[in-house]
Amino acid sequence: MTTLGRLAEESWDRFGDHDAVFYDDAWHRRHTLAERARRVCGGLVEAGVRPGDRVAVMMATSPEVAVVYQAVWAAGAAVLPVIALAGPDEVRHMLADSAATAVVTSPELAETVRAAVPGGVRVFVGTGELAAGAEHGLVERDPGDLAAVMYTGGTTGRAKGVRLSHAGLWHVGRAVFTTSHQEGLNLGIVPVPLSHAYGLIVTVAEMHATEPQQAVLMRWFDPGEFLALAAAHRVRFGTVVPTMLRLLLAEPLEEHPLPDLAYLTCGAAPLGRDTLLEFERRMPGTQILEGYGMTETSAVATFNPPGRRRVGSVGLPLPGYSLTIRDQDGGEAETGDVGEICVRGRSLMLGYWGEQDVDGGELRTGDLGLLDDDGYLYVVDRKKDLIIRGGFNVFPRDVEDALDRHPDVVMSGVVGRADPKLGEEVVAFVQLRPGAEVSAEDLVGWARERLGRVRYPREVRVVDSIPVTGALKLDRRSLRAQL
Ligand code: ATP
Ligand code: MG
Repeated sequence: MTTLGRLAEESWDRFGDHDAVFYDDAWHRRHTLAERARRVCGGLVEAGVRPGDRVAVMMATSPEVAVVYQAVWAAGAAVLPVIALAGPDEVRHMLADSAATAVVTSPELAETVRAAVPGGVRVFVGTGELAAGAEHGLVERDPGDLAAVMYTGGTTGRAKGVRLSHAGLWHVGRAVFTTSHQEGLNLGIVPVPLSHAYGLIVTVAEMHATEPQQAVLMRWFDPGEFLALAAAHRVRFGTVVPTMLRLLLAEPLEEHPLPDLAYLTCGAAPLGRDTLLEFERRMPGTQILEGYGMTETSAVATFNPPGRRRVGSVGLPLPGYSLTIRDQDGGEAETGDVGEICVRGRSLMLGYWGEQDVDGGELRTGDLGLLDDDGYLYVVDRKKDLIIRGGFNVFPRDVEDALDRHPDVVMSGVVGRADPKLGEEVVAFVQLRPGAEVSAEDLVGWARERLGRVRYPREVRVVDSIPVTGALKLDRRSLRAQL
């Protein structure tokens, strides 16, 4: 095991030069990207970036993002990925909180960055200026050193900076590659933002490849464009989040068969069992392989290996991780019982930014789940989102899954509303397909039939679109604010 800088360097020459990344209507060669990374490393060192410094990367997805990550690691510094959809307040918080020394951004985001950046922080728009000088060799670091400060999704509150080590990301990247890779399937489509934990780990996994990989990168996800690109390049696998599958299901999939697409990895948010099954029915030959993790676990903690996956489960712990489900008193829950998912292992965060090291203890995820007899994990919901209605536990996700099963529903989101009698009442927001004629009352009835008397939403509100976070996760916080 080495550092990510060394891993990047090894990966550049492992398979010689070849078409590596398709982006913006053109293929980009591996050696061209590698040379650029060495030059950007030179530019960063020249600009005063020192080992341990944080370099923020707030860019729309492009091959340059991976180039900058690799250059930052080669320069001995740590990357601070900032999601391109982050608003000025969030950007300001991340840059100030982490005391970043430099920011690399793209032209369309430069204004947001400039407005947010504290004085004295260098801003580079694109990699042109950084790559203008000479190449630079690797600045040595230790595997235990800081490789990334990654902010959490900010789904439940203000995003927290998570300190991740070279070793942690190295191991998870390798585990992701070895558990997902199938020999001969080397052409993938990547519509997830590279500036998210998912995209970062996809980048590290690629650096571990044992066969030359090719990636079709999407700047932003668009379902129609996804189908067109996947067909044109006959891609063999892809990386998605559940929202993307929901949006794809709203497309005439039957008119766009993708016979070469063997699997899609899916994670970052709950995936309804029926969404998975419907997608596979309408896209024969493609398997959805679900994984689960969080920023604090270097992005991934569990995954469903091809051939051994279980529908509805987020899979088995990655090599190097172990799971325990804990009951309310902190004891180990019985197999099959719901409790808090706790993770141990070598790729856990060093600690939150500005806080002490966690020192290899156990991470309480804040997620509820259960393990089956064979150790497969099933995620139930976030602990904080649990609705307690008249003393009964209602997991919003169960209600969303039931509503999402309705053929006219594109997406739904469920939250609890304070109620004087019951404590909380279940309220659902739904986005309908264009032209759908189903009424809110029909949907209340549909949900009641499937969920029973206690859990069904007494109120269904039809909205134009369901709010999602910058990481494309259902944003229940902003739904609560609409109540
Ligand atoms: P914050 O911690 O700031 O509230 P966040 O938890 O969304 O935001 P991330 O670290 O990006 O930030 O996301 C990890 C969380 O995403 C997990 O704790 C879990 O709740 C959810 N998650 C990830 N993968 C899955 C999955 N396959 N199924 C269900 N939930 C998932
Ligand atoms: Mg979290």
